Amino acid sequence: MDASSPVSPDNVAPPDATPMMVQYLEIKARAGDALLFYRMGDFYELFFDDAVEAAAALDITLTKRGKHGGQDIPMCGVPHHSYEGYLSRLIRKGFKVAICEQTEDPAEAKKRGSKSVVKRDIVRVVTPGTLTEDTLLEAGQNNFLGALAVLSGGEEAALSRVDVSTGELSVSGTTLKSFASDLSSHSLSEIVVADNNNDIEAWRDAINVARADMRVTYAAASTFDSRSGERRIRESFQVAAVDAFGDFTRADYAALGGLLAYIELTQVGKMPALRPPHRDASGAVMAIDQATRVSLELTKSQSGSREGSLLSAIDHTVTGPGARLLSQRISAPLTDPGAISGRHESVAFFADDERLSEDCRAVLRTMPDVARSLSRLSLGRGGPRDLCAVRDGLNAARELATLVARAGDAPQQIIECASALEARDGAGFSALMTLLKEALSESPPMLARDGGFIAKGFDPGLDAARTLRDDSRRIIANLESQYREDTGVKSLKIRNNNVLGYFVETPPSQGDVLLSGSFGEKFIHRQTLASAVRFTTGELADLDARIARARDEALARELEIFDNVAEKVVSRADELSACAEGASSIDVSLSFAKLASERGYVRPQIDESSTFDIRGGRHPVVEQSASIADAQKFVANDCNLGVGDETRLWLVTGPNMAGKSTFLRQNALIAILAQAGGYVPAEFAHIGIADRVFSRVGASDDLSKGRSTFMVEMVETAAILNQASERSIVVLDEIGRGTSTFDGMSIAWAAVEHLHERNRCRGLFATHYHELTGLAETLPRLRNMSMKVKEYKGNVVFLHEVGAGPADRSYGVAVARLAGLPAEVVRRASAILKMLEKNGARTRVVEDLPLFAATAESPQEEKSDRVRLALAAINPDVMTPKEALEAIYHIKSLIDSE
Ligand code: ADP
Ligand code: MG
Repeated sequence: MDASSPVSPDNVAPPDATPMMVQYLEIKARAGDALLFYRMGDFYELFFDDAVEAAAALDITLTKRGKHGGQDIPMCGVPHHSYEGYLSRLIRKGFKVAICEQTEDPAEAKKRGSKSVVKRDIVRVVTPGTLTEDTLLEAGQNNFLGALAVLSGGEEAALSRVDVSTGELSVSGTTLKSFASDLSSHSLSEIVVADNNNDIEAWRDAINVARADMRVTYAAASTFDSRSGERRIRESFQVAAVDAFGDFTRADYAALGGLLAYIELTQVGKMPALRPPHRDASGAVMAIDQATRVSLELTKSQSGSREGSLLSAIDHTVTGPGARLLSQRISAPLTDPGAISGRHESVAFFADDERLSEDCRAVLRTMPDVARSLSRLSLGRGGPRDLCAVRDGLNAARELATLVARAGDAPQQIIECASALEARDGAGFSALMTLLKEALSESPPMLARDGGFIAKGFDPGLDAARTLRDDSRRIIANLESQYREDTGVKSLKIRNNNVLGYFVETPPSQGDVLLSGSFGEKFIHRQTLASAVRFTTGELADLDARIARARDEALARELEIFDNVAEKVVSRADELSACAEGASSIDVSLSFAKLASERGYVRPQIDESSTFDIRGGRHPVVEQSASIADAQKFVANDCNLGVGDETRLWLVTGPNMAGKSTFLRQNALIAILAQAGGYVPAEFAHIGIADRVFSRVGASDDLSKGRSTFMVEMVETAAILNQASERSIVVLDEIGRGTSTFDGMSIAWAAVEHLHERNRCRGLFATHYHELTGLAETLPRLRNMSMKVKEYKGNVVFLHEVGAGPADRSYGVAVARLAGLPAEVVRRASAILKMLEKNGARTRVVEDLPLFAATAESPQEEKSDRVRLALAAINPDVMTPKEALEAIYHIKSLIDSE
């Protein structure tokens, strides 16, 4: 903070500082770079620079309050009952917010003297990676916080991740080389790194590249100590030795330790119910780097929205947790054929039984988000509705388990899920279910402090207090009619408000009746308003006190019961998380089963071979796009790579808009879906495990990161050529487009050779450089394929069909005409093309073909040009006799026309 800034407080409170300001400054100093929400009555107030920044970010009024060092103190505030909306806007804009509450009753403070300040303290620091409220989170999306630990000068490193809102915790080793890819397997909203660790310097670049919507937080390097990390894990999970959870490295401990320390810091000592850390062994997950994720639009489309992504096209889950799990599986497909088949088995179980699927889906629709409720309860931030979520979740889980059991013959994974749904390996959930059923009322209020959520008959003490409260109300009703009778004032009412408590009220015209004669002694005047006169009586004051006492007693008792029940729930956190996970896993299997029945997805065959045999494959997103889905005209295509050692690479040529990019991506997507454990959009699929999938599009614009388009293209291509193994699947779409023709062609040429000779991976390479098709003569495992096109009445028609052999020629000029380029330009382009084709690289277009020559082209030349184009478009191999005859008529018409 700039010390000379007029709105910045100094560290030392000036002499004119009020006691409250002194307290504020002390707490603000501890909040560090977070905005401080300072609770005052019904508002959270912000002061100084915080106020200026927040008022601008939230578009709320900036006011002032008092003076500081002779200057006005800027202030703004948000109402405490609706602060979540403001909070979420600030978090989205990249702020952190420290919430400072009053930690004592203002009445207590008053006892210390009229000037004393209510005690306050930070109860939580809200950061993008530590959110727990439903209003701040997307139901179907995880919110991951990560921590990177780098030890021994960069020799060892690990990346840990947690979703504080669900308790999922994992860690994996990483290296400088794989970091970018490791980072992108979970999209993090915040990452914690050590503040003064030189070892991390080299990793900054990767962090910055991924940074886009990830907040980078620096924490004390000491929190990344591996030894205290191990201790923290032992304490958090109350185990004597951490080995029980897997084999962890020193770096793993450091990364987990840093993560847990940061949670402790932001949650101010409270810990959410975390699941034991899961260690992702290296190689267990298909590596997909960030550029590939973007290019394939796995969970987000290129515009950043969920719509248009693979995930949104295939997501038929019915619960938020199910949607999260599906997203995780798509983001991190597996590489172990056994584990993958296990998932396929589960899908098959439901795909074979439509009735069972429908019943299970109906039950799941009633399943609340138990994991998130559990997390809030364990952080002491839960409400009555969170307890109800657990109650309803357990009921749904039991129903689901019953349905599965009745179906019989379930595969292993489903049996495990069903067992988790009922905690069969442990004590079972029956006792907890009974407790929740008896304790909670049907639909309770949002906040515990409103009371009324504990069911009648659960607790005798509470029932007694409530009876007292309700009886008193009845007594008041009786009193009202008695007063009316006594005074003869028919319009007399007993009412209540916060200031007066219970009081008697009459219209102004009747007020005098109660003040006169013997009534005057009984009715004590309190207030005269334009519309009413108000009185109290001794009896009423007594009753008022009794009601207030009973109400407070009932509420206190309810809160006590709430805490007890919440504690019982939290003590079963592990089993409850496993139960929720079982339900999500079933939801995901059901989602793929639905794709099987509705969209004809099939179970892929997965093994260790190097096969890639897709028959009748479709693009999962494009086939659903409105224009294509309506006309039912998505053309399915086969793709066969890696048959023995014969073919590894397909070189796909064809004009723009012919469907090359779609074809390339659909095959990469099919591989990812298959290894994620899903069914695939094809008639048949046999895939040998891929360790990585790469996908790149030439000349993609990435100006936002300040790199030239071509530079990006080359950096990305380099990454592939350096990393793709024999087990990888590579999809390269028009590489070399971002530079001059010969430059680009040479690079594309060399890249194909490298993939073929060195990487030896399975791959698809689309190019508009027709010259590359000659490579097939020298590269034995390369095959020329092309997108079928036909010319009809001078126009190009795309068949979207992949056929053997190279494309006849580039149809660029024909497409240009189709797009409505002026006839003059099209003519000129045809002439240049002809010249180039004749003379090859030696052509100096400018000299050999002056501009006027083209425009002066004779009608005769133009005609023969069109005929040439039409002839070139013909592919006799695939024509029916009728089509051939039509083509002859068409060509003849071109010659005959004037
Ligand atoms: P290219 O990469 O060859 O320029 P694209 O793959 O971008 O072509 O496809 C262009 C358009 O053609 C797509 O937007 C889609 O509408 C349509 N298309 C592509 N493939 C198919 C297909 N197999 N069936 C039907 N339409 C397709
Ligand atoms: Mg394309």
